[in-house]
Amino acid sequence: MDLELSDEQGLIVDTVRKFVRNEIVPLEADMDPDASDLDEENHERLASQVKQMGFYGLDIPPEYGGPDIDIVTRTLMAIEMAQHRAGLYNACYGVFGGAGLAQLFEANEDQKQRYLFPTLRGERHGFFGLTEPSGGSDPARAIQTTAVKDGDDWVLNGGKIFISGADRADYGIVFARTDAAKGRGGITCFIIDADMPGFHVRRIVHTLRSTSYATELQFDNLRVPPKNILGEVDKGFAIANDRLSRQRIPYSAGCIGVAVKAQEMAIAYANQRTTFGDLLATRQAIQWMIVDNEIDIRTSRWLTLAAADKANKGQPYRTEAAMAKLVASEAGGRVVDRSMQIHGGYGMTKDLPLERWYREIRIRRIGEGPSEVQRLIMARDLLGGSFH
Ligand SMILES: Cc1cc2nc3c(=O)[nH]c(=O)nc-3n(C[C@H](O)[C@H](O)[C@H](O)COP(=O)(O)OP(=O)(O)OC[C@H]3O[C@@H](n4cnc5c(N)ncnc54)[C@H](O)[C@@H]3O)c2cc1C
Repeated sequence: MDLELSDEQGLIVDTVRKFVRNEIVPLEADMDPDASDLDEENHERLASQVKQMGFYGLDIPPEYGGPDIDIVTRTLMAIEMAQHRAGLYNACYGVFGGAGLAQLFEANEDQKQRYLFPTLRGERHGFFGLTEPSGGSDPARAIQTTAVKDGDDWVLNGGKIFISGADRADYGIVFARTDAAKGRGGITCFIIDADMPGFHVRRIVHTLRSTSYATELQFDNLRVPPKNILGEVDKGFAIANDRLSRQRIPYSAGCIGVAVKAQEMAIAYANQRTTFGDLLATRQAIQWMIVDNEIDIRTSRWLTLAAADKANKGQPYRTEAAMAKLVASEAGGRVVDRSMQIHGGYGMTKDLPLERWYREIRIRRIGEGPSEVQRLIMARDLLGGSFH
Protein backbone atom coordinates (compact mmCIF):
# COMPACT_ATOMS: atom_id res chain seq x y z
CA MET A 1 0.00 0.00 0.00
CA ASP A 2 1.33 3.40 -1.01
CA LEU A 3 1.16 5.76 1.96
CA GLU A 4 1.69 8.84 -0.22
CA LEU A 5 -1.45 10.64 -1.30
CA SER A 6 -1.91 10.86 -5.08
CA ASP A 7 -2.11 14.37 -6.57
CA GLU A 8 -5.87 13.99 -6.90
CA GLN A 9 -6.26 12.83 -3.29
CA GLY A 10 -4.11 15.73 -2.12
CA LEU A 11 -6.30 18.17 -4.01
CA ILE A 12 -9.51 16.67 -2.63
CA VAL A 13 -8.21 16.65 0.95
CA ASP A 14 -7.09 20.25 0.58
CA THR A 15 -10.48 21.32 -0.82
CA VAL A 16 -12.39 19.66 2.02
CA ARG A 17 -9.98 21.07 4.63
CA LYS A 18 -10.50 24.60 3.32
CA PHE A 19 -14.26 24.08 3.23
CA VAL A 20 -14.32 22.99 6.89
CA ARG A 21 -12.03 25.81 8.04
CA ASN A 22 -13.60 28.60 5.96
CA GLU A 23 -17.27 27.63 5.96
CA ILE A 24 -18.09 25.41 8.94
CA VAL A 25 -15.80 26.51 11.78
CA PRO A 26 -16.71 30.25 11.54
CA LEU A 27 -20.43 29.41 11.75
CA GLU A 28 -19.85 27.42 14.93
CA ALA A 29 -18.45 30.49 16.67
CA ASP A 30 -22.02 31.87 16.84
CA MET A 31 -23.82 28.59 17.49
CA ASP A 32 -24.78 26.86 20.71
CA PRO A 33 -21.77 24.68 21.60
CA ASP A 34 -24.04 21.64 21.71
CA ALA A 35 -25.94 22.39 18.50
CA SER A 36 -26.41 19.47 16.18
CA ASP A 37 -27.96 21.23 13.16
CA LEU A 38 -27.28 24.26 11.00
CA ASP A 39 -30.12 26.68 10.28
CA GLU A 40 -31.90 25.91 7.03
CA GLU A 41 -30.50 28.84 5.07
CA ASN A 42 -26.86 27.99 5.81
CA HIS A 43 -27.52 24.31 5.27
CA GLU A 44 -28.90 24.89 1.79
CA ARG A 45 -26.18 27.39 0.90
CA LEU A 46 -23.39 25.02 1.91
CA ALA A 47 -25.05 21.95 0.38
CA SER A 48 -25.19 23.75 -2.96
CA GLN A 49 -21.49 24.63 -2.64
CA VAL A 50 -20.74 20.96 -2.02
CA LYS A 51 -22.80 20.04 -5.10
CA GLN A 52 -20.72 22.48 -7.17
CA MET A 53 -17.56 20.87 -5.81
CA GLY A 54 -18.93 17.51 -7.04
CA PHE A 55 -18.90 15.84 -3.63
CA TYR A 56 -22.61 15.73 -2.80
CA GLY A 57 -24.03 12.33 -1.79
CA LEU A 58 -20.60 10.93 -0.93
CA ASP A 59 -21.78 7.46 0.02
CA ILE A 60 -24.23 7.08 -2.82
CA PRO A 61 -22.91 4.65 -5.44
CA PRO A 62 -22.24 6.31 -8.82
CA GLU A 63 -25.02 4.29 -10.49
CA TYR A 64 -27.46 6.08 -8.16
CA GLY A 65 -26.02 9.50 -8.91
CA GLY A 66 -23.30 9.77 -6.25
CA PRO A 67 -19.74 10.89 -6.98
CA ASP A 68 -17.32 8.13 -7.94
CA ILE A 69 -14.96 8.30 -4.96
CA ASP A 70 -12.93 5.29 -3.84
CA ILE A 71 -12.97 4.14 -0.21
CA VAL A 72 -9.44 5.34 0.63
CA THR A 73 -10.17 8.85 -0.65
CA ARG A 74 -13.56 8.76 1.10
CA THR A 75 -11.74 7.89 4.34
CA LEU A 76 -9.27 10.76 3.88
CA MET A 77 -12.22 13.09 3.34
CA ALA A 78 -13.98 11.80 6.47
CA ILE A 79 -10.85 12.58 8.52
CA GLU A 80 -11.05 16.19 7.32
CA MET A 81 -14.82 16.50 7.62
CA ALA A 82 -14.78 15.68 11.34
CA GLN A 83 -12.45 18.55 12.25
CA HIS A 84 -14.94 20.90 13.86
CA ARG A 85 -16.99 21.03 17.04
CA ALA A 86 -19.93 18.88 15.91
CA GLY A 87 -17.73 16.86 13.56
CA LEU A 88 -17.65 13.57 15.39
CA TYR A 89 -21.34 12.78 15.10
CA ASN A 90 -22.48 15.28 12.53
CA ALA A 91 -19.62 15.83 10.11
CA CYS A 92 -20.13 19.15 8.31
CA TYR A 93 -23.73 19.11 9.56
CA GLY A 94 -24.70 16.74 6.77
CA VAL A 95 -24.15 19.22 3.94
CA PHE A 96 -22.28 16.55 1.96
CA GLY A 97 -25.60 14.63 1.82
CA GLY A 98 -26.07 11.13 3.14
CA ALA A 99 -26.78 7.81 1.57
CA GLY A 100 -29.23 6.92 4.32
CA LEU A 101 -29.35 3.29 5.32
CA ALA A 102 -26.81 1.34 3.26
CA GLN A 103 -29.01 -1.80 3.33
CA LEU A 104 -31.57 -0.13 1.10
CA PHE A 105 -29.25 -0.37 -1.89
CA GLU A 106 -29.96 -4.09 -1.71
CA ALA A 107 -33.74 -3.56 -1.56
CA ASN A 108 -36.07 -4.63 -4.37
CA GLU A 109 -37.27 -2.11 -6.94
CA ASP A 110 -40.57 -1.34 -5.18
CA GLN A 111 -38.79 -0.76 -1.85
CA LYS A 112 -36.21 1.45 -3.55
CA GLN A 113 -39.01 3.59 -4.98
CA ARG A 114 -40.73 3.89 -1.59
CA TYR A 115 -37.70 4.26 0.70
CA LEU A 116 -34.29 4.53 -0.98
CA PHE A 117 -34.92 7.22 -3.60
CA PRO A 118 -36.92 9.57 -1.32
CA THR A 119 -34.10 9.16 1.24
CA LEU A 120 -31.44 10.06 -1.32
CA ARG A 121 -33.49 13.14 -2.22
CA GLY A 122 -33.53 14.07 1.48
CA GLU A 123 -37.32 13.67 1.71
CA ARG A 124 -37.41 10.67 4.06
CA HIS A 125 -35.29 9.61 7.03
CA GLY A 126 -34.75 6.13 8.41
CA PHE A 127 -33.41 4.53 11.59
CA PHE A 128 -31.49 1.31 12.17
CA GLY A 129 -33.12 -0.88 14.83
CA LEU A 130 -30.96 -3.78 15.98
CA THR A 131 -30.12 -3.39 19.70
CA GLU A 132 -32.64 -4.64 22.28
CA PRO A 133 -32.78 -4.24 26.08
CA SER A 134 -31.54 -7.85 26.27
CA GLY A 135 -28.19 -6.77 24.76
CA GLY A 136 -26.49 -5.24 21.74
CA SER A 137 -23.06 -6.91 21.69
CA ASP A 138 -24.47 -10.23 20.62
CA PRO A 139 -27.70 -9.40 18.78
CA ALA A 140 -27.88 -12.80 17.08
CA ARG A 141 -28.65 -14.37 20.45
CA ALA A 142 -30.16 -11.37 22.23
CA ILE A 143 -32.95 -10.43 19.80
CA GLN A 144 -36.29 -11.23 21.44
CA THR A 145 -38.59 -9.23 19.18
CA THR A 146 -40.70 -11.78 17.34
CA ALA A 147 -42.38 -11.68 13.96
CA VAL A 148 -45.12 -14.26 13.48
CA LYS A 149 -46.85 -14.90 10.17
CA ASP A 150 -50.59 -14.16 10.15
CA GLY A 151 -52.17 -14.61 6.72
CA ASP A 152 -49.81 -12.82 4.33
CA ASP A 153 -48.64 -10.34 6.95
CA TRP A 154 -46.11 -10.59 9.75
CA VAL A 155 -47.03 -9.46 13.27
CA LEU A 156 -44.20 -7.96 15.34
CA ASN A 157 -44.06 -7.81 19.14
CA GLY A 158 -41.14 -6.63 21.26
CA GLY A 159 -38.91 -3.59 21.43
CA LYS A 160 -35.56 -1.94 20.76
CA ILE A 161 -33.36 0.41 22.74
CA PHE A 162 -30.67 3.07 22.06
CA ILE A 163 -31.93 3.62 18.53
CA SER A 164 -30.55 6.84 17.06
CA GLY A 165 -32.89 9.23 15.31
CA ALA A 166 -36.09 7.14 15.47
CA ASP A 167 -37.97 10.08 17.01
CA ARG A 168 -37.36 12.05 13.81
CA ALA A 169 -37.54 9.22 11.28
CA ASP A 170 -40.50 8.28 9.14
CA TYR A 171 -39.40 4.70 8.60
CA GLY A 172 -36.77 2.30 9.86
CA ILE A 173 -35.19 -1.10 9.55
CA VAL A 174 -36.02 -3.53 12.33
CA PHE A 175 -34.57 -6.99 12.95
CA ALA A 176 -36.95 -9.58 14.42
CA ARG A 177 -36.83 -13.28 15.16
CA THR A 178 -38.87 -15.28 12.66
CA ASP A 179 -37.59 -18.73 13.61
CA ALA A 180 -36.58 -19.30 17.23
CA ALA A 181 -34.97 -22.65 16.44
CA LYS A 182 -32.48 -21.29 13.92
CA GLY A 183 -30.46 -18.72 15.96
CA ARG A 184 -28.79 -16.20 13.68
CA GLY A 185 -30.38 -18.00 10.73
CA GLY A 186 -33.83 -17.15 12.04
CA ILE A 187 -33.74 -13.34 11.98
CA THR A 188 -35.55 -11.27 9.36
CA CYS A 189 -35.17 -7.61 8.45
CA PHE A 190 -38.40 -5.58 8.15
CA ILE A 191 -38.97 -2.03 6.94
CA ILE A 192 -41.37 -0.31 9.34
CA ASP A 193 -43.28 2.90 8.64
CA ALA A 194 -43.43 5.17 11.69
CA ASP A 195 -47.19 5.61 11.18
CA MET A 196 -48.00 1.89 11.24
CA PRO A 197 -50.43 1.08 14.09
CA GLY A 198 -48.59 -0.61 16.97
CA PHE A 199 -45.30 1.29 16.47
CA HIS A 200 -44.31 3.39 19.48
CA VAL A 201 -41.20 5.52 19.90
CA ARG A 202 -40.08 7.24 23.08
CA ARG A 203 -37.06 9.44 23.71
CA ILE A 204 -34.88 8.16 26.51
CA VAL A 205 -32.52 10.25 28.60
CA HIS A 206 -29.84 12.27 26.90
CA THR A 207 -26.65 10.38 26.34
CA LEU A 208 -23.19 11.98 26.40
CA ARG A 209 -24.06 13.18 22.92
CA SER A 210 -25.14 16.77 23.30
CA THR A 211 -28.68 17.49 22.10
CA SER A 212 -29.29 14.21 20.37
CA TYR A 213 -31.64 11.64 21.93
CA ALA A 214 -31.48 7.90 21.86
CA THR A 215 -34.89 6.29 21.61
CA GLU A 216 -36.74 3.25 22.83
CA LEU A 217 -39.08 1.46 20.43
CA GLN A 218 -42.04 -0.74 21.21
CA PHE A 219 -43.94 -2.96 18.79
CA ASP A 220 -47.46 -4.00 19.85
CA ASN A 221 -48.99 -6.36 17.32
CA LEU A 222 -47.37 -4.28 14.61
CA ARG A 223 -48.63 -5.68 11.31
CA VAL A 224 -46.13 -5.57 8.45
CA PRO A 225 -46.99 -6.57 4.88
CA PRO A 226 -44.64 -9.04 3.12
CA LYS A 227 -43.62 -6.34 0.62
CA ASN A 228 -41.75 -4.71 3.53
CA ILE A 229 -39.37 -7.60 4.12
CA LEU A 230 -35.85 -6.52 3.20
CA GLY A 231 -33.98 -9.39 1.60
CA GLU A 232 -35.22 -12.87 2.46
CA VAL A 233 -37.07 -14.33 5.44
CA ASP A 234 -34.61 -15.69 8.05
CA LYS A 235 -31.64 -14.07 6.28
CA GLY A 236 -31.74 -10.66 7.94
CA PHE A 237 -28.73 -11.08 10.19
CA ALA A 238 -26.27 -11.06 7.29
CA ILE A 239 -27.74 -7.67 6.29
CA ALA A 240 -27.04 -6.27 9.78
CA ASN A 241 -23.54 -7.73 9.93
CA ASP A 242 -22.51 -6.45 6.53
CA ARG A 243 -23.48 -2.93 7.47
CA LEU A 244 -21.58 -3.05 10.75
CA SER A 245 -18.28 -4.05 9.18
CA ARG A 246 -18.47 -1.42 6.43
CA GLN A 247 -19.49 1.32 8.82
CA ARG A 248 -16.40 0.80 10.99
CA ILE A 249 -14.07 2.53 8.51
CA PRO A 250 -15.75 5.97 8.39
CA TYR A 251 -16.47 5.59 12.12
CA SER A 252 -12.71 5.27 12.74
CA ALA A 253 -11.97 8.17 10.40
CA GLY A 254 -14.21 10.47 12.47
CA CYS A 255 -12.22 9.64 15.61
CA ILE A 256 -8.97 10.40 13.79
CA GLY A 257 -10.26 13.74 12.50
CA VAL A 258 -11.12 14.94 15.98
CA ALA A 259 -7.77 13.72 17.32
CA VAL A 260 -5.85 15.53 14.56
CA LYS A 261 -7.61 18.78 15.39
CA ALA A 262 -7.13 18.36 19.15
CA GLN A 263 -3.42 17.76 18.59
CA GLU A 264 -3.16 20.85 16.35
CA MET A 265 -4.77 22.90 19.12
CA ALA A 266 -2.50 21.38 21.80
CA ILE A 267 0.64 22.19 19.81
CA ALA A 268 -0.48 25.77 19.13
CA TYR A 269 -1.32 26.30 22.81
CA ALA A 270 1.93 24.74 24.09
CA ASN A 271 3.83 27.10 21.80
CA GLN A 272 2.20 30.23 23.16
CA ARG A 273 1.38 29.56 26.85
CA THR A 274 4.04 30.55 29.36
CA THR A 275 4.26 29.14 32.90
CA PHE A 276 7.11 29.44 35.38
CA GLY A 277 8.88 31.77 32.98
CA ASP A 278 8.91 29.60 29.87
CA LEU A 279 6.67 28.10 27.22
CA LEU A 280 4.75 24.90 27.95
CA ALA A 281 6.37 23.51 24.79
CA THR A 282 9.76 23.50 26.55
CA ARG A 283 8.52 21.13 29.31
CA GLN A 284 9.23 17.46 28.85
CA ALA A 285 5.92 16.44 30.46
CA ILE A 286 4.10 18.42 27.76
CA GLN A 287 6.40 17.30 24.94
CA TRP A 288 5.75 13.66 25.77
CA MET A 289 2.00 14.19 25.71
CA ILE A 290 2.34 15.73 22.25
CA VAL A 291 4.51 12.83 21.10
CA ASP A 292 2.09 10.24 22.51
CA ASN A 293 -0.74 12.05 20.73
CA GLU A 294 1.14 11.81 17.45
CA ILE A 295 1.83 8.09 17.92
CA ASP A 296 -1.88 7.50 18.62
CA ILE A 297 -2.93 9.52 15.58
CA ARG A 298 -0.52 7.90 13.15
CA THR A 299 -1.26 4.38 14.38
CA SER A 300 -4.99 4.97 13.97
CA ARG A 301 -4.57 6.59 10.59
CA TRP A 302 -2.44 3.81 9.11
CA LEU A 303 -4.70 1.04 10.43
CA THR A 304 -7.80 2.79 9.11
CA LEU A 305 -6.30 3.48 5.69
CA ALA A 306 -5.09 -0.12 5.52
CA ALA A 307 -8.67 -1.31 6.18
CA ALA A 308 -9.98 1.13 3.56
CA ASP A 309 -7.37 -0.07 1.05
CA LYS A 310 -8.43 -3.69 1.49
CA ALA A 311 -12.11 -2.80 1.21
CA ASN A 312 -11.31 -0.81 -1.93
CA LYS A 313 -9.62 -3.80 -3.52
CA GLY A 314 -12.56 -6.07 -2.70
CA GLN A 315 -10.45 -8.13 -0.29
CA PRO A 316 -11.74 -9.37 3.09
CA TYR A 317 -11.28 -6.57 5.63
CA ARG A 318 -13.29 -7.58 8.70
CA THR A 319 -10.22 -7.98 10.95
CA GLU A 320 -8.68 -4.74 9.67
CA ALA A 321 -11.91 -2.78 10.15
CA ALA A 322 -12.32 -4.14 13.69
CA MET A 323 -8.70 -3.26 14.53
CA ALA A 324 -9.05 0.24 13.09
CA LYS A 325 -12.28 0.84 15.02
CA LEU A 326 -10.83 -0.39 18.29
CA VAL A 327 -7.58 1.57 18.00
CA ALA A 328 -9.01 4.79 16.54
CA SER A 329 -11.80 5.09 19.12
CA GLU A 330 -9.53 4.38 22.10
CA ALA A 331 -6.54 6.39 20.83
CA GLY A 332 -8.81 9.32 19.86
CA GLY A 333 -10.11 9.45 23.42
CA ARG A 334 -6.57 9.57 24.80
CA VAL A 335 -5.54 12.35 22.40
CA VAL A 336 -8.51 14.53 23.31
CA ASP A 337 -7.89 13.89 27.01
CA ARG A 338 -4.18 14.87 26.82
CA SER A 339 -5.01 17.93 24.72
CA MET A 340 -7.49 19.08 27.37
CA GLN A 341 -4.82 18.61 30.02
CA ILE A 342 -2.40 20.81 28.06
CA HIS A 343 -5.08 23.51 27.81
CA GLY A 344 -5.58 23.58 31.59
CA GLY A 345 -8.80 25.31 32.70
CA TYR A 346 -9.57 26.50 29.17
CA GLY A 347 -9.78 22.90 28.08
CA MET A 348 -12.79 22.45 30.36
CA THR A 349 -14.79 25.30 28.82
CA LYS A 350 -17.45 25.10 26.15
CA ASP A 351 -15.66 27.87 24.25
CA LEU A 352 -13.33 25.19 22.92
CA PRO A 353 -14.59 22.06 21.12
CA LEU A 354 -12.46 19.77 23.31
CA GLU A 355 -15.07 19.19 26.00
CA ARG A 356 -17.70 18.16 23.45
CA TRP A 357 -15.26 15.77 21.75
CA TYR A 358 -14.24 14.41 25.17
CA ARG A 359 -17.84 13.43 25.91
CA GLU A 360 -18.78 12.24 22.46
CA ILE A 361 -15.66 10.21 21.73
CA ARG A 362 -16.35 8.13 24.85
CA ILE A 363 -19.45 6.75 23.11
CA ARG A 364 -17.22 5.58 20.28
CA ARG A 365 -15.89 2.75 22.42
CA ILE A 366 -19.45 1.42 22.72
CA GLY A 367 -21.23 2.37 19.47
CA GLU A 368 -20.90 0.23 16.31
CA GLY A 369 -19.74 -2.67 18.50
CA PRO A 370 -17.84 -2.07 21.77
CA SER A 371 -14.05 -2.55 22.03
CA GLU A 372 -14.55 -6.00 23.56
CA VAL A 373 -16.64 -7.08 20.59
CA GLN A 374 -13.97 -5.83 18.17
CA ARG A 375 -11.44 -7.97 20.03
CA LEU A 376 -13.84 -10.92 19.83
CA ILE A 377 -14.16 -10.45 16.05
CA MET A 378 -10.39 -10.34 15.62
CA ALA A 379 -9.86 -13.31 17.93
CA ARG A 380 -12.33 -15.38 15.89
CA ASP A 381 -10.54 -14.46 12.67
CA LEU A 382 -7.08 -15.10 14.09
CA LEU A 383 -7.88 -18.33 15.92
CA GLY A 384 -10.13 -19.92 13.38
CA GLY A 385 -13.52 -18.95 14.75
CA SER A 386 -14.99 -22.14 16.18
CA PHE A 387 -15.92 -20.51 19.50
CA HIS A 388 -18.41 -17.86 20.69
C1 LIG B 1 -25.55 6.95 21.68
C2 LIG B 1 -25.85 5.57 21.21
C3 LIG B 1 -26.46 5.39 19.97
C4 LIG B 1 -26.78 4.10 19.52
N1 LIG B 1 -27.44 3.96 18.31
C5 LIG B 1 -27.88 2.72 17.94
C6 LIG B 1 -28.69 2.56 16.75
O1 LIG B 1 -29.00 3.52 16.03
N2 LIG B 1 -29.13 1.32 16.42
C7 LIG B 1 -28.84 0.21 17.17
O2 LIG B 1 -29.28 -0.87 16.83
N3 LIG B 1 -28.08 0.33 18.32
C8 LIG B 1 -27.59 1.56 18.71
N4 LIG B 1 -26.83 1.69 19.86
C9 LIG B 1 -26.59 0.51 20.69
C10 LIG B 1 -25.15 0.02 20.70
O3 LIG B 1 -24.86 -0.58 19.45
C11 LIG B 1 -25.03 -0.95 21.89
O4 LIG B 1 -25.10 -0.17 23.08
C12 LIG B 1 -23.77 -1.74 21.84
O5 LIG B 1 -23.80 -2.65 20.77
C13 LIG B 1 -23.55 -2.54 23.16
O6 LIG B 1 -24.68 -3.25 23.51
P1 LIG B 1 -25.24 -3.16 25.05
O7 LIG B 1 -25.32 -1.73 25.39
O8 LIG B 1 -26.49 -3.94 25.14
O9 LIG B 1 -24.10 -3.81 25.93
P2 LIG B 1 -23.97 -5.37 26.32
O10 LIG B 1 -24.09 -6.21 25.10
O11 LIG B 1 -24.87 -5.67 27.45
O12 LIG B 1 -22.47 -5.39 26.85
C14 LIG B 1 -22.08 -4.72 28.05
C15 LIG B 1 -20.56 -4.61 28.11
O13 LIG B 1 -20.01 -5.94 28.17
C16 LIG B 1 -19.07 -6.13 27.13
N5 LIG B 1 -19.18 -7.50 26.61
C17 LIG B 1 -20.23 -8.08 26.00
N6 LIG B 1 -19.93 -9.35 25.64
C18 LIG B 1 -18.65 -9.57 26.04
C19 LIG B 1 -17.77 -10.69 25.95
N7 LIG B 1 -18.14 -11.84 25.34
N8 LIG B 1 -16.54 -10.57 26.46
C20 LIG B 1 -16.14 -9.42 27.05
N9 LIG B 1 -16.92 -8.33 27.17
C21 LIG B 1 -18.18 -8.38 26.66
C22 LIG B 1 -19.48 -5.13 26.05
O14 LIG B 1 -18.38 -4.81 25.23
C23 LIG B 1 -19.95 -3.96 26.88
O15 LIG B 1 -18.82 -3.18 27.25
C24 LIG B 1 -26.46 2.96 20.32
C25 LIG B 1 -25.82 3.14 21.56
C26 LIG B 1 -25.52 4.42 22.01
C27 LIG B 1 -24.85 4.58 23.34
